[in-house]
Amino acid sequence: MKKYDIAVVGAGPAGCMAAIQGAQQGNKVIVLERNDMIGRKLLLTGNGRCNLTNSSSLEVFIEKFGKNGSFFRDVFSEFSNQDLMNFFEKYGLKLKEEKDGRVFPVTEKSKSVVYVLLNVLNEYDVDVCFNYRLEHLQKVSDIFKLISTKKEVVAAQSVILATGGVTYKFTGSTGDGFRIAETFQHQVTSLQPGGVPLRVGEAWVHDLKGVTLENVGLSIGYGNKKKFLSSGNLLLTHFGVSGPVILDNSNMIVELIGVHGDLQLYIDFVPEISLEALGVCLVEDFQKQSKKSLKTYLTNHLPNSMIDPILNNMSIDPKKKLNQVTKKERLSLLEILKGLPLTLCGYLSIDKAMVTCGGVSQREINPRTMESKLVGNLFFAGEIIAGCGGSGGYNLQQAFSTGYVAGNSAVKLKKN
Ligand SMILES: Cc1cc2nc3c(=O)[nH]c(=O)nc-3n(C[C@H](O)[C@H](O)[C@H](O)COP(=O)(O)OP(=O)(O)OC[C@H]3O[C@@H](n4cnc5c(N)ncnc54)[C@H](O)[C@@H]3O)c2cc1C
Repeated sequence: MKKYDIAVVGAGPAGCMAAIQGAQQGNKVIVLERNDMIGRKLLLTGNGRCNLTNSSSLEVFIEKFGKNGSFFRDVFSEFSNQDLMNFFEKYGLKLKEEKDGRVFPVTEKSKSVVYVLLNVLNEYDVDVCFNYRLEHLQKVSDIFKLISTKKEVVAAQSVILATGGVTYKFTGSTGDGFRIAETFQHQVTSLQPGGVPLRVGEAWVHDLKGVTLENVGLSIGYGNKKKFLSSGNLLLTHFGVSGPVILDNSNMIVELIGVHGDLQLYIDFVPEISLEALGVCLVEDFQKQSKKSLKTYLTNHLPNSMIDPILNNMSIDPKKKLNQVTKKERLSLLEILKGLPLTLCGYLSIDKAMVTCGGVSQREINPRTMESKLVGNLFFAGEIIAGCGGSGGYNLQQAFSTGYVAGNSAVKLKKN
């Protein structure tokens, strides 16, 4: 039986960083990975470009994880976005910042991030054992026994579970770590999709699949409330809506759908102008450009492909000249331009989500070390921990930061 100081289960970003950090301190470390490669999900991130972190402040990072955010304050301070960028640049990977502080490798290829991790694992002599799927974890007299589905046994003084969540299961993240944590009496909170496309009831929207609405404002309505969320790009799909502004807000919307059922989504096509100002603008334009067709005029405010479907739904003839549009029609148009109402009637399955919200309960993990409060020398890192961030590089930073702290703490605890 092979014996190690630290066994890391899962070679995603969290597991790789944990192993590197543990090995850097002179420990004998093994990574056990069920795939035949490291970072299978990492390769898919950021549409293959890997949005590995964000340049925003610590407070924004915490806010992006919602009610689960404060748990990550210590790890984001201990290994910050800047520390992560320094790490990759030290190993020769140049980075660049894009819109909203999103950080990518200059190569625009996730595989360059994976190469760096692989090289550093090699540099520190970490054993990486592929095609090893952990099935059972036992602790006997302070030593962990890790047993694979093929009954291969590894022994280790510390174990770091970095098996990810349950999204994009074909990448290997099928939730094994949750089951294993439960065998040690850990609570796993309800697994909900985070960063997930949403279903819209109106069939005409489905026909507009592939259309991107640039920089639209998003609000939701439930009960008697209407709440502004944020602005950004929205993608129409064959089932509803996706794109950055949806994925960024979906965690909260999924929660609200759970409580209230169907919600109203309002799309503001001209968020930079108030309702009142746009109303005045329409009156003036309709007078000045009275001979223009409504369809031609609306290209100022709507993507071309949306004009006919919207006007059809309102039973207004797109060929009408502006001077033929009634006041009632103009006011209805104003309302639609400032808040096209759509019915949000669900979301795609968790397997299609970017990240798993929910996981091993934060209450049972020491936020300074990532060690289990129930089992000594058992650590957690990455998406296996409850709490998920919005899109923008926040989840990968969480994986790297928790991995760093878990790898580092496993060492410290051993030496003390
Ligand atoms: C399509 C997509 C795009 C994304 N884009 C971004 C982005 O641009 N920026 C961002 O911040 N986040 C992004 N995310 C989220 C990000 O990928 C995850 O937050 C991150 O990968 C979590 O890292 P992890 O190491 O915790 O888990 P994972 O990356 O899921 O790694 C877990 C590893 O554990 C292995 N494993 C599981 N069970 C076992 C077992 N029993 N035995 C051995 N090994 C096991 C798996 O095979 C896997 O390799 C994206 C997610 C998806 C799905």
